[in-house]
This record gives sequence, C-alpha cells and structure tokens, in this order.
Amino acid sequence: MQAFSLYKKLFSEYGKQNWWPVTEKGKTKPEYKNRKKLSEKQKLEVCFGAILTQNTSWKNVEKAIIRLNKKNLIDAEKILKTRKQTLAKAIKSAGYFNQKAVYLKEFCRHLKKYDFSLNKFFAEKDLRTELLSVKGIGKETADSILLYSAEKPVFVVDAYTKRIISRISGEKEKSYDELQNFFHKNLKKGAELFNEFHALFVEHAKQFCMKKPLCKNCFLKKECVFGKAFL
Ligand code: SF4
Repeated sequence: MQAFSLYKKLFSEYGKQNWWPVTEKGKTKPEYKNRKKLSEKQKLEVCFGAILTQNTSWKNVEKAIIRLNKKNLIDAEKILKTRKQTLAKAIKSAGYFNQKAVYLKEFCRHLKKYDFSLNKFFAEKDLRTELLSVKGIGKETADSILLYSAEKPVFVVDAYTKRIISRISGEKEKSYDELQNFFHKNLKKGAELFNEFHALFVEHAKQFCMKKPLCKNCFLKKECVFGKAFL
C-alpha cells in the first residue's frame, strides 16, 4: 500500500488527532486540541513530554506533567535550580525517574547556551545533530521535539510504526532510518501531515494493531499481508 493512501485510510477512520497534548494557560492538565500556534512554554512542555515518554505510556507522562505544572517547573531555568531528587520525585510516575531527571536537566543545561530560548535554539542550522548531542536524547525523542515542538517536517518513527508497516508489507521490521527515509521519500514533506500520520499510527496500534492484533475486524485487512489470513 502506498504511504499516502495508508494515511488517508487511517485519517478517514480516526479523524484528526490534535497532537501533541499540551497545557493551556491557567490549567495543569495537558489536552489534545486543535491549535494554530504553541506558546514558548507549551513548546518546552512538548520537549519535556518527549523526554519523559521514553519507555512509558502517555498516561504516566501526563501525571508527571501535571505535577511539573503544579510546581511551576515547566521552566528551564527553574529545572536547573531544582535539586535532582526533588525533580525525580515530581516525575516519578513516568518511570526511570532518576535517569529522566538527569535528562531533563541536561536538556535545560543545553538550552542555557541559547539564553533559555527555544526559539533561538530551534533556529540552529543542524538542530537534529544538536539535539542528539544532548544526553538522553535519541532519534525518536529528537524527532518528536523537531516535529511537535519546533514544527519541522521530520517523520517520527516508533515501535508502533515499525510493527504496523512490517505487518502490512509482510516484510521484517525496518530500522528507524530506513522507515524515516521511506516516509520522507514517499510523502510530500510537511509538518502537519507528519504530525497527523504519526499520531494515527499510535491510534491504530491502540485500536487494532496491538501485539495481538484484532485483524478480523480491522479496516486494513484487505491490504495487509498479515491481515489477509483473516479474510
Ligand atoms: S489487519 Fe491486522 S496486522 Fe494488519 S493492520 Fe490491521 S490489525 Fe494490524
């Protein structure tokens, strides 16, 4: 199946996903919402969320973000001034909290070079390389920050994307770079499209294409090598 026709099928089934969930001014809980623009604070919250979501579910990250909001810690300068143990306690729900406290601090230390301005940081020529040089930031986290915070047209690949594409194509799972190149080559480059497509993969992995897939009822089974067995 072609990349864009897969996108259209997923979109017509699930509709707009309104990623990435961020907190509105005066509130503490991140929400999925159709937004035209993110504030600098919301952009920072996306960066923190992308770091916190490593190896855990969004539900656990959401609790951590709420605690950070209540403590007014969606603030890079304040994160640097906060003791590691205090920060780790605030983000405990996200798991690997000691490690993630270090990662958040490392990210904020890096931002200090840009006067704590994400807009200045995002103006870097080779932003992806910069991000990857920060301790605790791998490809998926870097690309999530690039796409959902910096709004750059970079396709985010995750375990769900690898699984779904592998089952649909009937081929073994591709590497991060192979899949990212595939989407960059086969789609019109655009942050909005990449934003939506990644979110739709996540939704499909939750609704049908879980570890034990529900192929019998899946709307993609006719086009999916794995799912054809259930026709
Ligand atoms: S048919 Fe099955 S394997 Fe294929 S996309 Fe649907 S749930 Fe996943």
